[in-house]
Amino acid sequence: MILKINSYVFIGEPHLKQMKNNGEESSIIDLSISTNKFCIQLKAGQEIRKYQEELAAPGLRGENYIFVAPTGTGKTLVAARIIADHLDRNQNLDNVVVLLVVPTKALAEQQKDALERYIPGASVEICTGETQQTISLACLTNHVAVCTGGKLYSELFRKDLKFSQLSLMIFDECHSAVRGSDYANVLKLYVEEEITCSSSNPKTQIIGMTASPGAGKNPRMNLQITLDHLKMLAAHMNATSGIKTVVEHTEELERHRKAPKLDRLLLEPRDVSSDPFVQEVLETMKEIEKDLKGFQCVGIKRWSHKYLQKIRQNIHALELSDNESFLDLIRANKELLAYCSTLCVYMNLRSEDAIKVLKKESDSFKIDVTCSESRQKYATIRRSLIERLESLEPHDNPLMSKLQDVLYHKFVNDKNSKGLVFVRTRYEAKAMSDWIADSKRLAMAGIHPGMIVGHTTNKKDSMTQAEQKEVIEQFRNGDINLLMATSVAEEGLDIPACNLVMRYQYIASDIKKEQAEGRARAVNSECYTIISAHSPQKYQDILNEELIRLVQTIFKNGYFPNGDSLAGEIKKLQNKIIDDKRKKEAKQKQKKVLASDQIQLLCKLCKVQACFGSDVRVAGEQPYSQFAVSTPEFAEKYSIKPHHAPAQLTDSIYKTHKIYCKKCGADWGVKCVWSSDNQYPIIKCVQFLFKFGENKFELKKWSNAPFDIPPLEDSD
Ligand SMILES: [Zn+2]
Repeated sequence: MILKINSYVFIGEPHLKQMKNNGEESSIIDLSISTNKFCIQLKAGQEIRKYQEELAAPGLRGENYIFVAPTGTGKTLVAARIIADHLDRNQNLDNVVVLLVVPTKALAEQQKDALERYIPGASVEICTGETQQTISLACLTNHVAVCTGGKLYSELFRKDLKFSQLSLMIFDECHSAVRGSDYANVLKLYVEEEITCSSSNPKTQIIGMTASPGAGKNPRMNLQITLDHLKMLAAHMNATSGIKTVVEHTEELERHRKAPKLDRLLLEPRDVSSDPFVQEVLETMKEIEKDLKGFQCVGIKRWSHKYLQKIRQNIHALELSDNESFLDLIRANKELLAYCSTLCVYMNLRSEDAIKVLKKESDSFKIDVTCSESRQKYATIRRSLIERLESLEPHDNPLMSKLQDVLYHKFVNDKNSKGLVFVRTRYEAKAMSDWIADSKRLAMAGIHPGMIVGHTTNKKDSMTQAEQKEVIEQFRNGDINLLMATSVAEEGLDIPACNLVMRYQYIASDIKKEQAEGRARAVNSECYTIISAHSPQKYQDILNEELIRLVQTIFKNGYFPNGDSLAGEIKKLQNKIIDDKRKKEAKQKQKKVLASDQIQLLCKLCKVQACFGSDVRVAGEQPYSQFAVSTPEFAEKYSIKPHHAPAQLTDSIYKTHKIYCKKCGADWGVKCVWSSDNQYPIIKCVQFLFKFGENKFELKKWSNAPFDIPPLEDSD
């Protein structure tokens, strides 16, 4: 049996901590009798601020609630204050475990460091998808476990961990508890237990913290919609004591907040009617559109999202159709996609960046099964267009010129500036940082650019977490002082405070806007949005700003319910949450109606038959399930190549190869080795067309399959 020690006699005594982490505690049990409290330790001259105490107060009373305070005002210290008090009050009990739940691994590391610094008496362990350590084990031997939402959900789902084992849970960035997220899944399980379990069980205290609870999907600025959204968040978090913002010590909060100066710069974009680059591309697009009989795009700009959607719908319909020349038609549509992305890039960047897209996209078509005639035809069209575009005199992009001006003045006036520029895509981040590195004017201002983008399976334009960390370190020490970033940098990464944050032709949600602006918390900070004057995004940005204000008004004027009326509403909503969850589960069960041996899986691209539904097996638990084909005959349908980045897929599965359709080269998935030494191909459902009798259908997720998929057994 492992007993927990809840306090230290000698704070900072390293060997004692060592023993605890090993779980060998029997020899030091008696030490816990003499107690030294878990107390918050701050740097000399620092103390917990009054508004932080105000935010912590309900937590210290053991209540469930959500607290909201701007980025950079010390929410983690508020959490640490509550955790220390919780450990201190309960130090003679042996089932006291605190969980701090965070959305990302990077944030887990950051919060672990902070808690260890603030509460030197507590042992803190980290549990993420990448650590071997399970939360249930970490809980036995530590005071606090910092875990990601994904890790927590998978342990709860497998019933390796129960809520009753946890005495306090704090959800960092709790606004992430939206549909389908790990947070939402965890909280649904929590609400289900909360409702169904008898009240005699000791309940887990639960607290949420965020800088921006969000206004919900609310395009018309409706007060009721935002109230409903906030109540739903409170119901998921069981926040019976409501949502708390600072009301007493607002002056002190404002003093420490260092709110940035905000501005929206509306600019005239490239003039498409006279721009020869745009005209050349448009002419070519119109020519190709003639090959698609009946294609209409009146009133739709060919560089808009609407156009992209229209083309994607075309491709989708063709994939399902029996049209004999569907491959050529798909090819024509894909050409249009490439031209559309070229124009999109041209509107935001330089002509050379746009031409690169055209060249890159044509490379990616090499493994295509289009008949050689139409492949050659479109390749010729494209080559000739590239030649014409390259011979044009490049026009300056007015949006980029403005960006350059702002950057130049900021860095010339303050040599120690740190800037962050958010862009929409990885490609833009790369192109922008290349452009800035090439600019003599910006080099003269002392700008050293870098970029930070997210991690994807596509190795190109992607960064691993180690690479992200390295860039952030260079940004911290000043080797890089301007970061071009995608949304990955909005939250969940430990990026140093900046004094310049810009969003370049990139508008997301109200929550993301607040998060991004929260990065600008150094002295004399400025935030700019650079955006085309007539774009729909302009209205979205204005709406986001209004929604942020709406949420502030709700709390300032006390529109959010409290007391018994809130408790009643939360109960009602929780019943609805569980009702919906069960209905959805029942519906999914009902959907498994087709006989799996009568379902054929066809390669989506060349329509060759790959296997039957009855050949598919599921391995591993949700949400990390993998879908394998168990029949050996399937091996004749695919070719394999060593994986460029072999890696652990789950605890027991290691991917070694990529598998491709033998006929057309479509990417079907990966080949894996199990810890049992068995090998199976794992296939992606999106690469297949499912045929049942005369009906064809697609699947986005295996879990939506309308047939039963049995688990993979050793006998398979
Ligand atoms: Zn194929």
